[in-house]
Amino acid sequence: MGLLTGKNALITGASKGIGRAIALKYAQEGANVAFTYLSSVEKGEALAAELEAFGVKAVGFRSDASDFAAADKLMTDVLAAFGTVDIVVNNAGITKDGLLLRMTEEQWDEVIRVNLKSAFNLTKAATKPMMKQRGGSIINITSVVGVKGNAGQANYAASKAGMIGLTKSVALELGSRGVRCNAIAPGFIATEMTDALDPKVVEEWNKQIPLQRAGTAEEVADAVVFFGSDNSRYITGQVLNVCGGMLT
Ligand code: NAP
Repeated sequence: MGLLTGKNALITGASKGIGRAIALKYAQEGANVAFTYLSSVEKGEALAAELEAFGVKAVGFRSDASDFAAADKLMTDVLAAFGTVDIVVNNAGITKDGLLLRMTEEQWDEVIRVNLKSAFNLTKAATKPMMKQRGGSIINITSVVGVKGNAGQANYAASKAGMIGLTKSVALELGSRGVRCNAIAPGFIATEMTDALDPKVVEEWNKQIPLQRAGTAEEVADAVVFFGSDNSRYITGQVLNVCGGMLT
């Protein structure tokens, strides 16, 4: 029996990177998985079959997490497919980096909308069904940058810090109904998002990480399994840094 057997999960942004690794681990641990994608249509469409190979139900939706009405409809569709939603993983995210001096209003708005508003949208949509079933786990994928700040990422850091405030507030509001909400703050994780970085920057970052290397999407996914499982049943409102000790 897997750590998530019998649970129904919804994961946003699972076409690649960390979200894809979470979807695969969740299926491996026995969860039925609903997931979303937006621009990576082929990858998104191929994922359901990969997940079903683990013997679970899997259903993919092309859905913009930052669109409030679409997120609400998504929750209705997932409830229709699975009956309940026990775990929501707010993973969808983007970067549009630049020093504040050069950052445009569009860069700011877009990152806040996709990273922070998406988490609000899906959390809000999950609130009623989770309160009604008196249980659930909401997991927000934030970043060490949201804890610490980062030059050149004011928009991204603000969106990720916002997710931490959201996490703690939701934990306080919904704890009495058995609904938990935690955040995971990955450090430097090798994905397509980080492939775009200058190799020199990567080398410098690696030197500053106590474990001396970038993390993998699977290592983040292991922590997301923990927060989705009953092994974390007495943990809510927390931020777990999965960063090789970077923030120590
Ligand atoms: P990634 O490889 O670029 O994947 C991002 C995922 O988000 C994709 O599946 C993308 O789907 C989806 N997405 C983007 N906008 C969306 C929207 N509006 N609606 C639905 N889905 C959307 O990035 P990643 O590195 O795996 O990052 C995943 C999460 O971890 C993000 O929240 C990121 O901020 C966080 N994180 C990453 C790192 C790191 O080092 N990689 C570190 C800390 C935190 P489509 O491609 O289909 O559009």
